[in-house]
Amino acid sequence: MVEMEEEFPDLTSKVYKLIVEHGKEGILQSELWKALNLTSRDGSRLAIRLEKRGIIKREKVLNSGRWTYCLIPLRLPVQIKSIETLPCIICSDEGKCSPNGLITPCKCVRLERWVLQEYKEKHVS
Ligand code: SF4
Repeated sequence: MVEMEEEFPDLTSKVYKLIVEHGKEGILQSELWKALNLTSRDGSRLAIRLEKRGIIKREKVLNSGRWTYCLIPLRLPVQIKSIETLPCIICSDEGKCSPNGLITPCKCVRLERWVLQEYKEKHVS
């Protein structure tokens, strides 16, 4: 998994973006794997990772007589475009990052840069 993310650093954000684009209804994981040309093994790992990060949920559903998972975003961003570059999606420190930890969003340079960039794009023209 780590190797896969290193090789395709934007893959996790692509998966998340597609899930968000399907709104509250979510998307069947098989449709997502097909859209991104992923094996079910690699796709499942990415989905589990996003679920562990608390940004999607995997809901077990029966589809055409087979059990599968529907991937549903837990929060929908105001603008999908704004999450494409969110550093947390592909951050290797994400597992260690917490509000009260040594690695924290409160002191994160990457997150700060992203917020400032987003602000600039929306308010400076
Ligand atoms: S806040 Fe910073 S350290 Fe934490 S997950 Fe996001 S980018 Fe990584």
